[in-house]
Amino acid sequence: MSCEIEITGLVKRFGTNTVLDGIDLCLQPGERVAIIGPSGTGKSTLLRCLNYLDRPEEGVIRVGDLTVDAARAKNADVLALRRRTGFVFQNYALFANKTARANITEGLTTVRGWSKDKAQARADDILTQIGLADRGDSYPAALSGGQQQRVGIGRAMALDADLLLFDEPTSALDPEWVGEVLDLIRRIADGRQTMMIVTHEMQFAREIADRVVFMEGGRIVEQGPPEQLFGRAQDDRTRAFLRRVG
Ligand code: ADP
Ligand code: MG
Repeated sequence: MSCEIEITGLVKRFGTNTVLDGIDLCLQPGERVAIIGPSGTGKSTLLRCLNYLDRPEEGVIRVGDLTVDAARAKNADVLALRRRTGFVFQNYALFANKTARANITEGLTTVRGWSKDKAQARADDILTQIGLADRGDSYPAALSGGQQQRVGIGRAMALDADLLLFDEPTSALDPEWVGEVLDLIRRIADGRQTMMIVTHEMQFAREIADRVVFMEGGRIVEQGPPEQLFGRAQDDRTRAFLRRVG
């Protein structure tokens, strides 16, 4: 089967701390991958390296026909990669001084180079899709946590990216807002958007993922379809982790 997204030998160090120790992954078109594992294990760093928010020391990331090799990546490669990947942050990371609509248009006008009018029309369409058609003029502080994260997701959706990256998108939310955010991600997943989601919501991972990847110590320990990974994990470390969280 063909990989739409191919990650080969990804290594990331912070000083002497090797946080990603050779990650290889291949995603089929439309595949939805959940990443689980103990905290401090490199899950966020993996997603951040895929968008070059953190620059890996080694490794090759291929998205479709775009190949970015850490050994020789130039600014233009990084920008091209960012055009093809959307990132949803744990803490929303919205611009506090911009309205919901402007948070969504920002990437379209800067990264994509769209005209203001075209970006506004796209943002209004997205606001409808995320159930915030009447809140486009609101600033983040006037929105609930759930609404803010829906804007964070809408901003990533607007880019029409080949790959969406979700880093624990519900873990900063009060429990009352978790459901509406998971519902939105579920809808995106139903559209067979290629995605990687780091999550502590094991039930959700089981429900939406085609594949679950268990990471520990900067490496992929084990991966497989949800029923296999959750039902009959092979590695002791995977089983110990699942016992702790389950
Ligand atoms: P996870 O998301 O699995 O909890 P992270 O990817 O956030 O793990 O972190 C993995 C390791 O990398 C941790 O030891 C963390 O302290 C370290 N780390 C992450 N970001 C930085 C950074 N900007 N500078 C130094 N160390 C970092
Ligand atoms: Mg993390």
